[in-house]
Amino acid sequence: MRAFYHPEQALHSPQQFMRYGRFVPVKDTPLRTERLIGALARHGITPEEPAAYGTGPALTVHTAAFVRFLETAWENWAQLPDHGPEVWPQYFPYWSGRPEDATRPDCPAKGFIGQVGWYLGDLSVPMGPDSWLSILRASETATAGADAILAGDRAAYALCRPSGHHARADRGTGFCYLNNSAIAAQRLRGRFSKVAIIDVDVHHGDGTQQIFYTRPDVLTISVHGDPTDFGPYYTGYANETGYGAGEGFNLNLPLTPGAGGDEMIAALDTAIERVRAFGADALVVALGFDAHRDDPIGILKLDAKDFGSVGSKMQSLGLATLIVQEGGYGIDAIQDCLDSFLTGFRSKR
Ligand SMILES: [Zn+2]
Repeated sequence: MRAFYHPEQALHSPQQFMRYGRFVPVKDTPLRTERLIGALARHGITPEEPAAYGTGPALTVHTAAFVRFLETAWENWAQLPDHGPEVWPQYFPYWSGRPEDATRPDCPAKGFIGQVGWYLGDLSVPMGPDSWLSILRASETATAGADAILAGDRAAYALCRPSGHHARADRGTGFCYLNNSAIAAQRLRGRFSKVAIIDVDVHHGDGTQQIFYTRPDVLTISVHGDPTDFGPYYTGYANETGYGAGEGFNLNLPLTPGAGGDEMIAALDTAIERVRAFGADALVVALGFDAHRDDPIGILKLDAKDFGSVGSKMQSLGLATLIVQEGGYGIDAIQDCLDSFLTGFRSKR
């Protein structure tokens, strides 16, 4: 199985993370990628560097204004007098959390500070001098993985960091800037008429849901911790089923806080049944490991071995499958989680 990763994805190194009103240690550290590469090594897989695709793939699911904002954010920030170490919003525009509100107007503010608040939706998406390069490379890693599938591979792994599934068409939140899974799924549509995305990150894949919410050609499914009292709070509920032509093509399967492997697998059985009924031609697995019991910001109780069962379930669909890395912040757990997932996923191939 081929895997993809660009070393420049490790340049993004957030310095500030706010939780419960105070600065706490950053969760999305570059060390995460070392651990995940370590898991690949256990399987004899060495990741390849993706080609330099540029912003073209990202622009297939994101607005041009948003991509341009990300691309130029640091150079604009660096011109501010007495600026801090990272681009951070200080204004928070109101916008409906309703997923059927698929698009919002262009940012009415011409000033950069207003745009920071418009495009960076919370305090967990700081951008330092090298962040854009890492964001772009992560999107290229997803694109290269999709291209491997398009070229005939039955499976590939895209080690994306920063993650992507919270990124909407025009907004970054939750450690996510460009939506790598969505970019990959859209690219797979170039050959496959129906693509399914199953997201098992502990957080609802709200950005992925929003991007495809009005479309019947990409089925989006997310299994995650109940958002009633957990991020992203405003979406991820079972009654969000798609809108317009996309009605019936989104499935949210929230799990009760404290749920473990059995509950995850039961939800995946439902997900797999739905993917089969949909008649998917290809699968994107948005693979987070923050459902692990030791994750510092998760609310579920999976063990590393449970991700092996998740891998087996994904493999049982028998589809061409691109695995895209999402979250997972238990730095001592994620290597075993990916190792276990790959063992389960590859066991019958
Ligand atoms: Zn997550």
